[in-house]
Amino acid sequence: MKINLKAKRLFASRGLSSLQERGSLSIVDKIVRRERIYGGDINKAWRLELDDGSTVFMKTNLPENAAYFKAESTGLEAMRATGTIGIPKVIEYGKTEDYSYLVLEFLKPAEKRIKDYWETFGRELALMHKASGSVVWGKSPAMFGFPSDNFIGHTKQINTPCSNWVDFYRDCRLVPQLKMADRYFDSAIRKKFTRLLDNLGGYLEEPESPALLHGDLWSGNMLCGPDGKAWILDPACYYGHPEVDLAMTQLFSQLPPAFYSAYNEVNPISPEYAERRDLYHLYQLLNHLNMFGSSYFGEVTAILGEYA
Ligand code: ADP
Repeated sequence: MKINLKAKRLFASRGLSSLQERGSLSIVDKIVRRERIYGGDINKAWRLELDDGSTVFMKTNLPENAAYFKAESTGLEAMRATGTIGIPKVIEYGKTEDYSYLVLEFLKPAEKRIKDYWETFGRELALMHKASGSVVWGKSPAMFGFPSDNFIGHTKQINTPCSNWVDFYRDCRLVPQLKMADRYFDSAIRKKFTRLLDNLGGYLEEPESPALLHGDLWSGNMLCGPDGKAWILDPACYYGHPEVDLAMTQLFSQLPPAFYSAYNEVNPISPEYAERRDLYHLYQLLNHLNMFGSSYFGEVTAILGEYA
């Protein structure tokens, strides 16, 4: 087995990746050139050239964070299995003594987006939401949640399967974030949250069936792929209400109207969605409060004030 020592030095790797331990040659040993890519907010990202002339994308983090990449690859593979929308292929994940990594197909953006870029994106996301749950749940009935937990940013995301959406959203999404954020709240705010959680079923609706969600669909997790269409990346996948993904596209900005109208043609958006959107923002904003601090407190309490 030929080990590329120059490549090893490029990443100052002193350890063996999980693949090498199993006796296969890892990507880490085939790197001949690397270049930083900027734009992510959690990991370091790289464009790598390998000794066979190919180019791949790699994200790295500390060795103790290898679980992020395992979870991310599971989500990418689930979405890819629906065959509905552009998702980069997972090539390898693992860790050395110095870092953990995820290697993906490199997406070289097309020079030009296709003409109906946003319509196609809307339609393809709707198709992913409508795809059969069998890609993950096999012959068992699809549930809300996911077979394994994952991460939203660097916060653990609990995915314990549940047959009811409102219960899942309360117990696995809002409650864990509220517990983590408790130090920000006084007793009046705590009381309002209790009221909101008690009445959640009055605000949210059960979807027709659990939909595979990207789970973190903000604009930083979309890019134009080699086919000129929108591809989606860096997911926090689980089965839930499709409105979660739509709401995330509207948290920090908006996608063009063409995206939502094309989505609506394939998977109709309820007229009451707008009334629920902020409750779906609440989960992400609580997570931002927990990850980035008190600058998100005002947005969290403003939403709480709308409902409780
Ligand atoms: P993070 O996990 O740190 O948020 P991202 O997954 O967002 O990192 O990726 C970081 C940067 O790399 C982004 O600018 C993104 O557009 C780019 N990127 C992500 N995946 C690929 C890929 N498969 N091919 C090319 N560029 C990618």
